[in-house]
Amino acid sequence: MKMMHIHAINLPRFVIVGPNVLPLIKDVMSRLNVRGDVLLVCGETYTKVPAGFVKSSLEEAGVRVHTVEVCDASEASVKIVQDTARDSSSSMAVCVGGGKSIDVAKLASHREGIPFVSIPTSASHDGIASPNASVKNASGSISVMAQPPIALLADTEIIARSPRRFIISGCGDIIAKFTAVRDWALAHRLRGDYYGEYAASLALMSAELVTENIDLIARGLDVGVRVVIEALISCGYSMCIAGSSRPCSGSEHLFSHALEKLNAGKAMHGERCGVGTIMMMYLHGGDWKGVKDVLCKIGAPTTARGLGVTEDQLIDALTIAHTIRPDRYTILGEKGITKEAAEDLARITGVIS
Ligand SMILES: [Zn+2]
Repeated sequence: MKMMHIHAINLPRFVIVGPNVLPLIKDVMSRLNVRGDVLLVCGETYTKVPAGFVKSSLEEAGVRVHTVEVCDASEASVKIVQDTARDSSSSMAVCVGGGKSIDVAKLASHREGIPFVSIPTSASHDGIASPNASVKNASGSISVMAQPPIALLADTEIIARSPRRFIISGCGDIIAKFTAVRDWALAHRLRGDYYGEYAASLALMSAELVTENIDLIARGLDVGVRVVIEALISCGYSMCIAGSSRPCSGSEHLFSHALEKLNAGKAMHGERCGVGTIMMMYLHGGDWKGVKDVLCKIGAPTTARGLGVTEDQLIDALTIAHTIRPDRYTILGEKGITKEAAEDLARITGVIS
């Protein structure tokens, strides 16, 4: 008899989304029965104000709080957070911040064996509820399995006030699921990789939800911001259920990581993934023009110039993308694509002119 794939599903216990939900942190902590000190991880910029609010709320509840600021998603930052958690004997990490601080807090808390609470201040990528974290080390940025947050408080008012570009990046990361799921299904058919229909549907549903509501998001309405947040949370759930980032990360993510590896431009993760999705959808023979239209509507980049990279850098990224994560089979295959094919691909889809 053929062995069935077995994996454990670890999901967040409390998910609270809405305006002004920050004061609910006290209830969440009491329901989680938190005893002892808590480590507060926050970013350096505008996240300090909500982080300060969370700190005083916790202190009012009689919890001793140790604060650590994170400036980037690097192994060095993870180590600082781990050291602070250990030195303070914190029993839980609470992160109030953007994608980078959340990645760092997630990985550090996982390594220290303590739970973490995610309080995102922006909706720039799908890590707010996912079990994996993307952290830079000497060989570039890698996504590693850590743990999902035990609780998630997404305050829509705070997130709506974050820079517009963050929401645009979040949308790019969600649109990416259209090709990520196709790549996953391909790896299943060609290589027998585990494929979970439910996790795949959940990821796809997020991308469809954002596509259907793109006008609301483009107009900057709060209801649009909420759609993006809920879609990102749903992506996080799909990864928890799949037990890997597979439903949310395919060839378009490999392209994004390749640009990062080449140190090309300063575009955000989701912006790069959005452009990658246009091109990978072309390779899949799908509706790449539809993907491009959606990104155009919200003012997301759709070209090399929009990503702040040269045409040569973009083509190089396409040709090395398959080497970023060889275990992850995608439409780029094991050998990747030639320079000529990459040029054609980028030209036909209008990513280069
Ligand atoms: Zn992503």
